[in-house]
Amino acid sequence: MTRASHRIAGRMDQLDASGIRKVFDLAASMENPINLSIGQPHFDVPDVAKQAAIEAIRSGKNSYTPTQGLAGLRSHLAADCAARFGFDGNTTSNLITSGVSGGLMLAMQVLVEPGDEVVFFDPYFVMYAHLTNLAGGVPVGVDTYDSFQPGLNKLADAITDKTRMILVNNPSNPTGATYSREVLEGIADIARSRDLLVLSDEIYSDFVYDQPFTSMAEVYENTLLLGGYSKNFAMTGWRVGWAAGPKAIIEKMTMLQQYTYVCAPSMAQHGLLALLEDGHCLDGVVADYREKRDLVYGALGESFGLVKPGGAFYAFVPAPGGDATAFVTRAIESNVLVIPGNVFSRKDTHFRISYACENDTLQAGLDILNTLV
Ligand code: PMP
Repeated sequence: MTRASHRIAGRMDQLDASGIRKVFDLAASMENPINLSIGQPHFDVPDVAKQAAIEAIRSGKNSYTPTQGLAGLRSHLAADCAARFGFDGNTTSNLITSGVSGGLMLAMQVLVEPGDEVVFFDPYFVMYAHLTNLAGGVPVGVDTYDSFQPGLNKLADAITDKTRMILVNNPSNPTGATYSREVLEGIADIARSRDLLVLSDEIYSDFVYDQPFTSMAEVYENTLLLGGYSKNFAMTGWRVGWAAGPKAIIEKMTMLQQYTYVCAPSMAQHGLLALLEDGHCLDGVVADYREKRDLVYGALGESFGLVKPGGAFYAFVPAPGGDATAFVTRAIESNVLVIPGNVFSRKDTHFRISYACENDTLQAGLDILNTLV
């Protein structure tokens, strides 16, 4: 019997980690697995950032930063948003968050009332459903199988009087899909016709391989943007991200940050600021990851019927036999760790590969997967 003093709040019943836990339980028995499950880059944080973070600690910059983040970082971000989207300081603002995860949490808590519906495309990044539930909202998945491109009619049909916002993730985790300007304009038209906010998670915006990246904020004036540095600078453990958009919303997110995360880690902000001032170039990383994407598509395109992913560092691959959990069990028995689709979706027909690893590891994993078709 659970002791009364250990009672867990009912809202935690909304969270379920059973899918991923099953995979990691299975994976625990693996020795030296070929790990194609990790959602973080295989390279290291650029030296400029490391040095500046160390220097910040050594020189005593160890206290809280302003809740909103270091002024230098914020003005960098504001200048970027002004140049790219025409954001102006009278109507928009920004905030440095504890990763995009922190930004998502704040945005959901600030925007979603109990019963509000949050619409996003299925397959989706796991946090979207959980954070919607935690806020008392109702996640509404719009099916995008098998192309993983948003169907605009399906999106329009999913909107109801209770819809609070549309959540877009471009490029997408877990599918690697990227959305063209036309598709984003289609989403914007639907949102505009119903006066809906679009929350756009663009954490993978630097990882696009076949077409220039278009931000939701370029095509829709009523966008709350979330971006981050975990992926492009490989600093997942540094916990820095940002939010930019309508001033009234950012102000409330800032207030909530004050009472929750307080600020993003100070040394990480200092390291990042030095990196941005240095003008770090990502062309090499993008070329490297495009090559990995090509390796994956070359190996699995025909044999598995994989739709070519255009961005991020994931491929969402049809599972032979249509049962992802069964296939992932076989892959794990063959020493390759991948994630079943039901972690990211209402369906369990595909599995996710992360190709953020060395080419040798990736090739070895792909070769084994091809023996399992
Ligand atoms: N959004 C998406 C789509 C992601 O894949 C991730 C990380 N896996 C995040 C947000 C959170 O990233 P972070 O909190 O490290 O910035």
